[in-house]
Amino acid sequence: MRKFGNTGMEIKRVGFGGIPIQRISQEDTNKVIDELEKCGVNFIDTARGYTISEEYLGNALKGRREKFYIATKSMSRNYESMKKDIEISLKNLQTDYIDLYQMHNVKPAEYDTIFGEDRAYRALLEAKEAGKIKHIGITSHGLETVEKAVESGKFETIQFPYNIVENQADEVFKKAHEKGVGTIVMKPLAGGAIDDGTLAMKYILSREYIDVAIPGMDTPEQVRENTAVLENFELTEEDNVKITKIKSELGTNFCRRCEYCLPCPQGVIIPQNFLLEGYYTRYGLQDWAIDRYKALGEDQRASNCVECGACESKCPYELPIIEMLKNVVNTLEK
Ligand code: SF4
Ligand code: SF4
Repeated sequence: MRKFGNTGMEIKRVGFGGIPIQRISQEDTNKVIDELEKCGVNFIDTARGYTISEEYLGNALKGRREKFYIATKSMSRNYESMKKDIEISLKNLQTDYIDLYQMHNVKPAEYDTIFGEDRAYRALLEAKEAGKIKHIGITSHGLETVEKAVESGKFETIQFPYNIVENQADEVFKKAHEKGVGTIVMKPLAGGAIDDGTLAMKYILSREYIDVAIPGMDTPEQVRENTAVLENFELTEEDNVKITKIKSELGTNFCRRCEYCLPCPQGVIIPQNFLLEGYYTRYGLQDWAIDRYKALGEDQRASNCVECGACESKCPYELPIIEMLKNVVNTLEK
């Protein structure tokens, strides 16, 4: 078990990311939670924004809530809506308290605006005083946000993407760890771009300053695979060769499938286009990728992009989506 910053929580370094609950049933959610319990995973992270995730988890945790630390988060930025969201989370999760409530995906430009009298942070402080939440955290895709959060002393945990191809948070995670701020890694598989899950988890767990990685898991097998890594996560020479190869193949301009760019006004399913291109170029599944691309609606394909630019301003990784979609067309429609 790992001391989770200064929160007083003791957690397993492999936690559970609740995004995939959205694509499975209540019954399958129960099976995943059964497996978490068996494997000793005791940190569960979800979000108000993950549709039915909180509700399914609440049902699955009935009668065993005390065995887990529950973290959730809200995109609310003002006082009233955050207050409301905390109540909804408590109801959905069927609990009197939430162990960690996080401000979800705070962009660097809005960081300074969350602390005023009628802003969200005040609602979190009040909920903490009332015992409805135990700790306050923050999540972001923007480095400046978490840097400021660690400096401020206002947040007990930070959550940021970190994986083989995205390690720009190294320094801020180290600093957070030194200061007793809990460190949570999201996107350990770079949104599915890295297909060797064991290697991806080893890479993260071998960093001592990271408290917990929270891969999204939707089957008991995945829970077993990810927790097995805890038995030995020392990187071998062979692992390092593979890591170098993955880094050079993916570079930094790749889609993490966070879907913040959606909806596109034209209906282009942006991340799906990049995913299929990846299957074509990286995994040698050319025919399959082309078939799947053709199976998309005409409006959903990369070629339907009219270059309005609406998506690019929403992408937290500042990807040149328009140019990248042109590459998709060149690859999959040639
Ligand atoms: S630039 Fe293209 S993909 Fe992006 S929102 Fe506009 S039409 Fe959609
Ligand atoms: S293009 Fe950017 S915003 Fe859209 S899914 Fe990919 S990483 Fe996320």
